[in-house]
Amino acid sequence: MLTHIQKSSQFLLDLLFPPSCISCKAANSWLCQNCLDQIALITPPVCGRCGTPMTPNTSVCKQCKNNPLQHLDGIRSAAQFEDNPIRPAIHFLKYRNHTAVASILATLLAAAYRRYQLAVDVLMPVPLHAARFRERGYNQSELLASAMGHRLNLPVDTKALYRTRATKSQMTLGVHERHQNVAEAFACSHVDLSGQTVLLIDDVCTTGSTLDACAGALKKKGVAAVWGLTLAKAR
Ligand SMILES: [Zn+2]
Ligand SMILES: [Zn+2]
Repeated sequence: MLTHIQKSSQFLLDLLFPPSCISCKAANSWLCQNCLDQIALITPPVCGRCGTPMTPNTSVCKQCKNNPLQHLDGIRSAAQFEDNPIRPAIHFLKYRNHTAVASILATLLAAAYRRYQLAVDVLMPVPLHAARFRERGYNQSELLASAMGHRLNLPVDTKALYRTRATKSQMTLGVHERHQNVAEAFACSHVDLSGQTVLLIDDVCTTGSTLDACAGALKKKGVAAVWGLTLAKAR
């Protein structure tokens, strides 16, 4: 949650340094309409499990047949990560603390939620470890989840799920190492989630192992179904 001080200082910053498009530098907005239109949206048909774009009449992709998600019911992503303006936008959101950008990007998540006809009880951002949270000052997934929840009128739970230990950045790791890195890294507090359907929110999904580890912790607590929705899907 942002404090009033953070909000007011953001307002002042916008006055002093008027926004310009993160991707093309055009004046007056953080992501101009032209760049928004260039975002490579993912649309159905997709793999029923991991959400990778597929040809019609195939239900599950090869990757999911060989290496299925353990706990998640499925992942969906709003857009492709590579070669389009979503990549600089996510980078900006992650490293420049931009709530205005989170709010623009949350519209893409809300549209994807409708496009894939997801129906859940509660949104949960993928948590950061406390040390990383202190260092960055915010959790970008939490910014996305709260802006999206606001848009769709869905509750957002930022407390139930937490990290039990710090993990290495997934960026440089292979599929198997990613899985090992996040195994047992999440836990769920003692709240009653039994029978609920949860939607995990994150910025980028690569193999889905982080989301899957979160889903494992939630299902241990009796959560009925766990889906993941990310802004982007990396190849
Ligand atoms: Zn632009
Ligand atoms: Zn798949």
